[in-house]
Amino acid sequence: MKKNQAFSKLPSVDKILSNPRIEDLINCYPRKLILESIREKINQKREEIIFLDEKDIDSFDIKEEDLISDIINCVKDKFELSIKKVVNGTGVILHTNLGRSRLSPKIKDELINIAFGYSNLEYDLSEGQRGSRYDHLVEIIKELTGAEDVLVVNNNAAAVLLVLDTLARDGEIIVSRGELVEVGGSFRISSIMELGSGKLVEVGSTNKTHIRDYKKAFNENTKAIMKVHTSNYKILGFTESVEIDQLKQEEEFRELPIIEDLGSGVFIDLSKYGLSYEPTVIDSIKKGADVVTFSGDKMLGGPQAGIIVGKKKYIKKMKKNQLTRALRVDKMTIAALEATLRIYLDEKDAIENIPTLKMITCKLEELDKKADLLLHKILNLNIDAAVEKQKDVSQVGGGSMPLEKLDTYTIAIKPNKFSVSYLEKTLRNSESHIIGRINEDKYILDVRTIEENEFDFIIKELKKVFN
Ligand SMILES: *Cc1c(COP(=O)(O)O)cnc(C)c1O
Repeated sequence: MKKNQAFSKLPSVDKILSNPRIEDLINCYPRKLILESIREKINQKREEIIFLDEKDIDSFDIKEEDLISDIINCVKDKFELSIKKVVNGTGVILHTNLGRSRLSPKIKDELINIAFGYSNLEYDLSEGQRGSRYDHLVEIIKELTGAEDVLVVNNNAAAVLLVLDTLARDGEIIVSRGELVEVGGSFRISSIMELGSGKLVEVGSTNKTHIRDYKKAFNENTKAIMKVHTSNYKILGFTESVEIDQLKQEEEFRELPIIEDLGSGVFIDLSKYGLSYEPTVIDSIKKGADVVTFSGDKMLGGPQAGIIVGKKKYIKKMKKNQLTRALRVDKMTIAALEATLRIYLDEKDAIENIPTLKMITCKLEELDKKADLLLHKILNLNIDAAVEKQKDVSQVGGGSMPLEKLDTYTIAIKPNKFSVSYLEKTLRNSESHIIGRINEDKYILDVRTIEENEFDFIIKELKKVFN
């Protein structure tokens, strides 16, 4: 047989279009995508023939039904969303790559209502005239933080930028060298600060900064002092830093705004739940910070947002900055944040119903029970693998509480007939997109970040891999 004969086995586009399985597809997917996929798959076959060895030509054949299946998968892949729900089995609660905080199921209806309908986003219902989108969040955040005023922007990096651009324009900002953190994805706080029109003046050394360092750097161009909560690393041992209340006591800093970037802002003192103390927004305000910035989707457990709280005169100035328009939040963010914050009015409710807080404070006995349940389900599958429950540690993640060791239980799976990396890859690419990790040649799933209602996805996919 010659290559010409092999080419003649390629079906025509029309022939494929008349296949009943493809005809079914036309009712559910755009025709353009189907045609594109048919051409793509036929071209792949054509290339296969081009690169075929002489000796393989005779045995070359095209199984039409296999080609049809390929085309159907191709259409589905093209049509499916690129962003997908995954099962987080990593035990990292604020996993930046996996979307940081999960929103509370309690706010679902409200969020859908606002997203799918018109709303009073910028409309004052009592006056019947234009209102401000920022007003919706002011009262609740004032209530929860004790601050005078509030402004919410797109994320915390944007909050830092807006604060410095507004308060330190054409002047200098003093910041301790030990607090210049990199926040992941190689974004440095210092670079964000320099995007504003102020100049950064670093004082002190990596491990020690004294009040005299701030005083020495202070001059007539100084516009602000910035404190950054080093939420993603800790310098231990021989260290010293200056607290906000100390800075506030200095006569010469009286007129300066003292700004604190908290990063992961928390409203609840987590030391009450057996964790180490993480500075709360309320404490920063009490210590005298004039402006405090923090993320909506780190430990707060809400949507991505940058929350700015502080003195009215400073926030008022920020609202007039043209940057605010560029950094403004969307109605879905406002709805999700307001609804999440309302849960905080009752602390017990917040711990139980905000997934991020619930996962951080989850007790070991509860995780033990949860792991037993998953273990039992997996053992019932009778798969050809060693399966066991193990003690391990989870992480808060998202650059928060880096030293916190959260004791947990994991399920470890070691397949007998294929590699652990094959198992990891297959579960990751499965319909449920299960993300686990490999440790000591075992596949590990941490139950802390997995919902019980996701166990059945794991069981279904394990069944498929092992069959
Ligand atoms: C995470 C973090 C940021 C950036 O916050 P985003 O909401 O991710 O923009 C800024 N500062 C500190 C200290 C942080 O930890």
